[in-house]
Amino acid sequence: MIDFTPTADQELFVKTARDFGREVLGPAERTLDKMADPEEAFKSDLFWSTMQQAFDLGFHKMGLPESYGGLGLDAITAGLVWEELACWGAGFSASLMAGAVVPRLIAFMAPFNEELVNKYVIPFCENDDARLISAWGSSEPDIGSDGKNYTDKSVRHRTTARLRDGRWIIDGTKSNFISNGGIANSYIVFACVEPDQGICGSGAFLVPADAKGVTRGKCVDRLGLRALNQAAVYFDEVEVDESNLIFPPGDGYPMLHNAIITVGNLGTGYLALGTLRAAYEEALAYARERVQWGKPIAEHQLVAQKLFEAHTAMESMRTFLWKGSWLCASAFPGDLKTSLSAKIHATNLAAKHTAAMAQILGGYGLTRDYPVEKYVRDAPLLQVMDGSNDTLMVKAAALL
Ligand SMILES: Cc1cc2nc3c(=O)[nH]c(=O)nc-3n(C[C@H](O)[C@H](O)[C@H](O)COP(=O)(O)OP(=O)(O)OC[C@H]3O[C@@H](n4cnc5c(N)ncnc54)[C@H](O)[C@@H]3O)c2cc1C
Repeated sequence: MIDFTPTADQELFVKTARDFGREVLGPAERTLDKMADPEEAFKSDLFWSTMQQAFDLGFHKMGLPESYGGLGLDAITAGLVWEELACWGAGFSASLMAGAVVPRLIAFMAPFNEELVNKYVIPFCENDDARLISAWGSSEPDIGSDGKNYTDKSVRHRTTARLRDGRWIIDGTKSNFISNGGIANSYIVFACVEPDQGICGSGAFLVPADAKGVTRGKCVDRLGLRALNQAAVYFDEVEVDESNLIFPPGDGYPMLHNAIITVGNLGTGYLALGTLRAAYEEALAYARERVQWGKPIAEHQLVAQKLFEAHTAMESMRTFLWKGSWLCASAFPGDLKTSLSAKIHATNLAAKHTAAMAQILGGYGLTRDYPVEKYVRDAPLLQVMDGSNDTLMVKAAALL
């Protein structure tokens, strides 16, 4: 039943990701991370040329069906690639991953809206234009973890949508944390249509970034994942077609939200795995070179223990994520409890062990001369991305 041997195709995809990571993504991510003003990063040619090269190689459309021009990769193969890409740059990889959210959701809902497939999914796959990157907005200044509070009817998105003359009018603000918020070409926006139904009264709307009334905030200045643009998005009397309601409000909301989290949490887990692997590989190489007390520090037992524990953590993260991906490949979108648990496990271990890896470099691990300090800064954001680990744990525990 279990086979860990990669196929020839999987090896090829991973090699392509590794070559791209070593030559393009890694150097770009390190430069973007060091830019003092995050706005500067997303106006730079460096960011956009790197994104374009990622699109040219097809990483943006890994999860989209071949019938629409996507690569149609199964979840395990895509996971192998995400681990590799994240090892070179978790911030940029998070942007690339979030960037496919609009076409993926439309493709998921394709039987109900063929017109949007032709307008958004096929061009995304066939034009391979990095400017078509997208974003999704559920969280708001007052709605973070509450996005998962399906029972309390007084909790609802403050962003609203109402029908006027056969057009939806959208008003409201999405939080500072919208991945690709400041650079996306289109958005999935959760907006309240039926206030009596609480958060389940929200529908999912497709909103083009150039629609009149859409404005974006500045990229929020953060500890880590600095190659990921995160910004608020504002909607002021934004009008969209009636058919832009791609998922209606009602009892289906938890199903949709949970499906997004089931897939998204695995992605975040792979970002954590790649981040820890990068830190581990750097610490291992350093520990084999650095001599103190007459021998390479890797031979001091307490240093060896840190390396061993990080290695074991990665093995457990990887197998858990593969199981989640296998469930996703077997019956889309997979199993919620497994995805939540694998994400919590992976991101908590990444935060713990990246810090240990930095300690192996002693004082140098805390300087900007070595990349390891960046991994220590990136990892905690992954503990909050796609839901804070504490709230995901509450959700997963309820499914035991
Ligand atoms: C890297 C990153 C990318 C993101 N991308 C997106 C995106 O693309 N789109 C989007 O919509 N959002 C995005 N977010 C937002 C993210 O979903 C929220 O930050 C997250 O849901 C937490 O919301 P909050 O920050 O408002 O914290 P709050 O919900 O205010 O939580 C604050 C603290 O209270 C705890 N808490 C809250 N409720 C409970 C509870 N019931 N039980 C126990 N503890 C609780 C939390 O664990 C946390 O420690 C992103 C966030 C990050 C960090």
